[in-house]
Amino acid sequence: MRSIKTLLLLLSLLVAASTTFSADLAAQGPRLKHPERTERTTAPDENGLHQWTEWKGQKCPLCKGVGKSKCVTCERFGKDAESCPECQRKDKDKFLTTCRICIGEGTIPDPLKVVPCAGCVGAGMWVCTVCSGGGRLKVGAAKRWSGCPACRGKGGFPCTGCDGKRAMGPLQTKPPLDEAPPEKIQKTIKSIDATIEKFAAFEPIGGTKARKAVKSLTSAFDSFKKVNPAFKDLSKQAKSYMGKIFAGANFQGHEENEANTLKMIKENAEYYLKHQKRMLQLALKRAELNAAKAGK
Ligand SMILES: [Zn+2]
Ligand SMILES: [Zn+2]
Ligand SMILES: [Zn+2]
Ligand SMILES: [Zn+2]
Repeated sequence: MRSIKTLLLLLSLLVAASTTFSADLAAQGPRLKHPERTERTTAPDENGLHQWTEWKGQKCPLCKGVGKSKCVTCERFGKDAESCPECQRKDKDKFLTTCRICIGEGTIPDPLKVVPCAGCVGAGMWVCTVCSGGGRLKVGAAKRWSGCPACRGKGGFPCTGCDGKRAMGPLQTKPPLDEAPPEKIQKTIKSIDATIEKFAAFEPIGGTKARKAVKSLTSAFDSFKKVNPAFKDLSKQAKSYMGKIFAGANFQGHEENEANTLKMIKENAEYYLKHQKRMLQLALKRAELNAAKAGK
């Protein structure tokens, strides 16, 4: 009896809880520019065949070449916060961490070889959106912090799409994308278009329909696993991650938070896919020029 009372009290507290779900999660993290505008030039060699020019990465506009930038995950945390899933609060003064834009290189890496991860877009982890990464919450009128039920105090989850490396390599085509003939590239463009369509059709919904939404999200990831095997890991990650986020389902505003969280995953994947589509188009342009030259 007593335990039931305690449970009911706890439940009523949870229902009354107002947490700090932040609505701008989808926009979290810096983005360099529209992936559609990424440039990668070619120039004809002595035989008149177009070759990729040497990549001269511009200095990273975010970190100004240092390779480290202010941690966007714990920017809003109080000074007393001990942990952060992104920077671990190692730098107690400036809260600097590996720059998400250049992946710590200081210059923009060659987009033919290195792409920010489709799951975490350079963060190396997926932030817990129930606690916004802080790992703790104030439930209802409580003055004291309690551990976040979703991440159990960790604030986030390691990204399995990139194994924490923050970036992905080029698409797994044979021969590699930057040398492939037009037909091969066109085939890959077809696959990427199909996946882009799946993500576009995916509607991030919270609440009672959220679990069904997760299924269509994981199938969107799965649709690209042949071209990029890491999408299989991302599919699994999206499922297990959302399973954790649902632990916040007793909090007020959880429907909106779930929808925003799903939207964040969708937009991260879309950023990557649009970037790769652009690289495929540039590769196709080069391959077609060379095929025409060889045909003469
Ligand atoms: Zn941090
Ligand atoms: Zn940078
Ligand atoms: Zn990642
Ligand atoms: Zn959490």
